[in-house]
Amino acid sequence: MREKCGIAAAAAKVDVAPYLYFSLNALQHRGQEAAGIGVYDDSEQIKCYKGLGLVNEAFKDIDINGIKGKRGIGHTYYSVKISSPYNAQPTLVHTSAGDIALAHNGIITNSGELKERLLKEGHNFSMGSEEESMAFLLSDYLKTKNFEKAIKSMMRNIQGSYSLAIMFNNRVFGLRDPLGIKPLCLGKMDNGYVIASETVALDVLGAELIRDVKPGELIEITEDEYISYPLMEEKNKAHCFFEYVYFARADSIIDGKDVYMTRKKIGERLAVEHPVDADLVVPVPDSGRAHAYGYSEKSGIPIAEGLMKNRYVGRTFIMPTQDLRQKYILLKTNPIRSIVDGKRIVLVDDSIVRGTTMRQMVDLLRSRGAKEVHVRIGSPPIIAPCYFGIDMTTREQLIAHGSDVEEIREKIHADSLGYISIDGMVEAIGMERDDLCLGCVTGEYPIKLEGERERFQENLEKWE
Ligand code: SF4
Repeated sequence: MREKCGIAAAAAKVDVAPYLYFSLNALQHRGQEAAGIGVYDDSEQIKCYKGLGLVNEAFKDIDINGIKGKRGIGHTYYSVKISSPYNAQPTLVHTSAGDIALAHNGIITNSGELKERLLKEGHNFSMGSEEESMAFLLSDYLKTKNFEKAIKSMMRNIQGSYSLAIMFNNRVFGLRDPLGIKPLCLGKMDNGYVIASETVALDVLGAELIRDVKPGELIEITEDEYISYPLMEEKNKAHCFFEYVYFARADSIIDGKDVYMTRKKIGERLAVEHPVDADLVVPVPDSGRAHAYGYSEKSGIPIAEGLMKNRYVGRTFIMPTQDLRQKYILLKTNPIRSIVDGKRIVLVDDSIVRGTTMRQMVDLLRSRGAKEVHVRIGSPPIIAPCYFGIDMTTREQLIAHGSDVEEIREKIHADSLGYISIDGMVEAIGMERDDLCLGCVTGEYPIKLEGERERFQENLEKWE
């Protein structure tokens, strides 16, 4: 399961490219396929520098310190389709209103109709991306409106999840969708301001967290101040619960919640909901660690690192045979026989998507002598796809779609299996249920989607 993208924006009294480079490195977990930085430079234009791979690979032939510009935005990209740095972000469009560059985390769910309409209106797409559609919408509205009003008009035309870092000529903005599906926060540096997907991208700059960007809010940053434009407000929000369970880095704070402590609370709740007689709690590294500490503390069962992760496995090719696919799990994770041999293990992870990796891990632990393997999961069963930027896109790929817990237990070869309940998870996160997106665990989405049940989304037309 992977997140689609991390974003950052900075305005400072010095050149910002090195700052953005640091922030993108801190956001590496949100996208590993490509990275890019766009700055407004001395030529009074926005220039973008992009490459494929991890942030350090993407910029290996670029002199970051040589990039001039005191205002800029950056992006780490995850997409299965990317084949050229050209498609990486920021997306830059030169329009009659000026240069517009966008870095996007999320998915525009009505992008198909939108593109069709823009094509009919005479726009020439070069990439065909939803970011290009947003830039075209903006350029159209900028003919008659100021930037804030143009953004508001753009928002009335797009549905879905979007946290955006935007440049309009030399101005820098952060924008969060009205439901706040993806995170976005604002920080202050000694010499300017920064906006980023997660607080870890602020920490790395020594920036102080001011607050989260509010759902439906546009924030402009300069080297001296930030200016807030509250553009739209929904009664309820739809923060992605998976940010707390898995996507965000554990050392981030999102919408006021400490991610590590939230995961630990989920583990504690899991111990109450699904107790078991066992000798040892073993986390799946690194995704299940905080949950496992919570489970161990609450249950009194000692915790030990029974699985070692090989941190140096990079991106790999698609394994052509079953044998190689099975060996791949050994390349990534290896049980420590002296710890697991003869033990009744509670194996804790954040989620199960397809179930293949979990089954392999259970089998591995048994092959190294584990007497029993009880699996405990820090999210409810994932029964439906995500339409908002997480790569679980079909029901067929999900082990919990159409199977009950007992059937899943059999498929993953566990002695017992326990998922946290939706109520338990919501309580551990500490937000109102109606302020969270729970689409993939309830099949009910916060935005109207063809063929799916809808929880709420007020009509965009109401925002005049
Ligand atoms: S459907 Fe699931 S993964 Fe997607 S945004 Fe909603 S909670 Fe997050």
